[in-house]
Amino acid sequence: LATDLDAGADATHGEPAPAAPMPVTLPTTEPVAEGVLRGVAASPGLGIGHVFHLRHDDAVVEQRGADPMQEQRALESALSTAHLQLDGLRQRLIEEADADHAAIFAAHQELLEDPEVLDRAAAQVRAGDSAAWAWQQAYTSQADRLSALSHAVMRGRATDLRDVGRRVLHLLVGGSAPVDVPADSIVVAEDLTPSDTAALDRTKVRALCTTMGSATSHVAILARGLGLPAVAGVDPRILALPAGTRVVVDGDRGTVNTTPSADDESRIVARQAVDDERRGRELAVAREPATTTDGHRVEVVANIGAVSEGARVADVGGEGVGLLRSEFLFMDRRTAPDEDEQAKSYRTVARALGPERILVIRTLDVGGDKPLPYLDVAVELNPFLGERGVRLTLARPELFRTQVRAILRASASGKVAMMFPMIATLAEWRAAKALVEREREALGVAPIPVGIMVEIPAAALIAEQFAREADFFSIGTNDLTQYALAMDRTNPRLAPQVDALHPSVLRLIERTVAGARAHGRWVGVCGALAGDLHAVPILVGLGVDELSADIPLVPAVKARVRSLSLAECRETARLALEAGDGTEVRAIVTQRHS
Ligand code: PEP
Ligand code: MG
Repeated sequence: LATDLDAGADATHGEPAPAAPMPVTLPTTEPVAEGVLRGVAASPGLGIGHVFHLRHDDAVVEQRGADPMQEQRALESALSTAHLQLDGLRQRLIEEADADHAAIFAAHQELLEDPEVLDRAAAQVRAGDSAAWAWQQAYTSQADRLSALSHAVMRGRATDLRDVGRRVLHLLVGGSAPVDVPADSIVVAEDLTPSDTAALDRTKVRALCTTMGSATSHVAILARGLGLPAVAGVDPRILALPAGTRVVVDGDRGTVNTTPSADDESRIVARQAVDDERRGRELAVAREPATTTDGHRVEVVANIGAVSEGARVADVGGEGVGLLRSEFLFMDRRTAPDEDEQAKSYRTVARALGPERILVIRTLDVGGDKPLPYLDVAVELNPFLGERGVRLTLARPELFRTQVRAILRASASGKVAMMFPMIATLAEWRAAKALVEREREALGVAPIPVGIMVEIPAAALIAEQFAREADFFSIGTNDLTQYALAMDRTNPRLAPQVDALHPSVLRLIERTVAGARAHGRWVGVCGALAGDLHAVPILVGLGVDELSADIPLVPAVKARVRSLSLAECRETARLALEAGDGTEVRAIVTQRHS
């Protein structure tokens, strides 16, 4: 990747754009006003609209199943995930002294163990039906039976059974059926998958709110990719708001105002106008390079998670793709895509970017919070510390080989590079690299850059050893933060503290850059930190060469770089490394660069 440390001669493209306003993250202790529900800022911006609860009442389900063993495993895994979700909701409500709602979720958990429903579903699976079909038949017929009884308690149980039944069904089939969303909707759900958002008419959606997740969870990534404001980990009471309630979502502060006054609304409209105007200015110069006032060039590229996004990168000034999350090809289906299908998808993106823009394809990163029903992964007590990322693909050489071959075959269509997620040890890197070399020789294609994601502290700490062998590093700050701080990135209760600006994370980034420099390798950051305007001066000052942000954020990141000087950024980074926590780091940045 081109890194121009001596780009003085090249430094005068366009006028430096004014610095963008800083997003604000509420400290947890700050009280919120009456009627305002708290969550965490997941995607910037403001949305006004009406609550639309996304549920999957009418999922269209295929009757015939694959192998009954596989279907039964899928059903069991959905049931245990549903249990865990309900546990989380219940715990949270208990802590908030909302015993009534907590009891509802406890009742739902009991219903998941109803032997009549489970036996009937299992029998249908044995007879060859899909897990989703068998489950749907089992819970709906039981609910129909209960609602026919005259006893009010039984009829209440029927409603609960339908509710929890839909939860499991959703886990089994995702939300791929199109959903009829009214105009100006604020979509409210416990969680959203990529197929949920794919099923929405995005022109009608003003913001997303989920009770699960955090600033780096997958719903946040989805929302930022779509340019929609989002608040994750919202107080679960939002689920009880009547559909159609008018609310204001503040994706910068992480709040949802459920009783906005006319004054609140006009203030929001004024802020939206300022934001729109700023975005327009940034977009107008987005194709100019991101060069600091003292002539240091930073590469700004995009994170994408769908083939169609490749065509949008150049329009926002993206100088390539720093992270293609290849998981999208593997999710919401019953079998893995074959080599031809994958090669075609990668090729389409490479061609959309053209020969000059880099395309870094990350190999499959599932496990942890992203299970794949057709991969036989044992239920784990700590999935984030378990078989995920490259550990999982190394253990399934056929799956890995197929993807590597597809990437290599597509490499002739553009400037393709490949990287492995979740590398912890040199042995993993060497095994993965050896597989790439074997396939490359078998296919007879030219070498391509092969790098690693640095998202486990172990890799950051011995970056120098990795840099002897790997062509580049891309720092995944989302995972690096959760592992450095030992805080689950998907846990809404920890969300305000999982702070990638914590000096410990910054020190790991510093160490990674130092290791890379020792061997002339380049370093990118592809975690959400790269799109955080507070972080940009620090990352530039630490010597990061490339920032890879979600598509809508690229113009703002470029504008931010243009407003900075490398010399000042280096001093900012030095001070940030000495700070005590993320709040102090933010204060340093605000004081020096706002
Ligand atoms: C990361 O961990 O920072 C990253 C970019 O990967 P993902 O968010 O997909 O885990
Ligand atoms: Mg990661």
